[in-house]
Amino acid sequence: MVFWEGYVSDDVMGTFAPIVVYWLYAGFYQLLPRLDRYRLHTEKEEEQKNLVTLSTVVKGVLLQQLVQATVAQVLFLVTAQASLLGVPVQPSIPVQILQVFMAMLVMDTWQYFVHRYMHHNKFLYRHIHSQHHRLVVPYAVGALYNHPLEGLLLDTFGGAMSFLITGMTPRTAVFFFCFAVIKTIDDHCGLWLPGNIFHMFFQNNTAYHDIHHQLQGSKYNYSQPFFSVWDRMLGTYMPYSLVTRRQGGLEARPLKD
Ligand SMILES: [Zn+2]
Ligand SMILES: [Zn+2]
Repeated sequence: MVFWEGYVSDDVMGTFAPIVVYWLYAGFYQLLPRLDRYRLHTEKEEEQKNLVTLSTVVKGVLLQQLVQATVAQVLFLVTAQASLLGVPVQPSIPVQILQVFMAMLVMDTWQYFVHRYMHHNKFLYRHIHSQHHRLVVPYAVGALYNHPLEGLLLDTFGGAMSFLITGMTPRTAVFFFCFAVIKTIDDHCGLWLPGNIFHMFFQNNTAYHDIHHQLQGSKYNYSQPFFSVWDRMLGTYMPYSLVTRRQGGLEARPLKD
C-alpha cells in the first residue's frame, strides 16, 4: 500500500516523482541561508570559479529531466508489455531492500566506468562531461546539470539498467530512483551540516564528491552516487581531510599532489 495508489500508476510515479523530489530537495538547500560556517567553499570562490549562471543551470537540468522522463516512460511501457504476468506482484520488504542494494551496486558500477572514461577521453570530456565541471563549486540545484547526452548515458541508462537487472517492480523503482536523486543532490549541496545522515552512512558524500569537482582532484573520486569501492579498488581514490578555514567555513583538502 502506497499513498499514490488509486490516484496515479507506479509508472507515472517512477517517471515524475524523481523530478518533483529533485526540485523539492534542491529547492530546500537553495532556500537555506548561506550558513558559511558549514560551507566547503566561500562565496567569493563560488563567484570566481563557477563558469555558469544559476539560470543556465536550471534550464540545463530541466532539459535533462525532459529526456529522462521520456526514456522512463518508454522503459516502463516496454517492460509492462513484455511482462506476461500482468500487474507485477510486490515482493516482500526484505527482497525489495536486497533489490535496492543490488541496484545501488549496478548503478555505481555503470557510472564509475562511464564517468572515468569521460575524463580520459579528451573528446568526450571537452564536448560532454566538462559541462558538469563548469560548477567547480557545486551547489544542490546543479547536481544534475549535465550535457543532455551525459544525462542520458550516465543517469538514465544507469537507472534503466539497475531497474532491469535487479527485476524490481516499478513501485520499488519509485523509491530507488527518488533515493538516487536525493543522494546525488546531497553530494553536490556544498554544505557539511551536522547530523546529515548521508555523511554518517556514506564515505562517498558531499566532501568526497567536492574533491572530484576541484581541479586537483578531477582525476580522482569518480565513484558515484553511492559507494567509494571502485575508486578504492582501482587506485583513483583521493584521501582528503576536512579542515576549518582561517576565514571561517570548512574545506575538503586533497592529501595527494
Ligand atoms: Zn567528472
Ligand atoms: Zn558532480
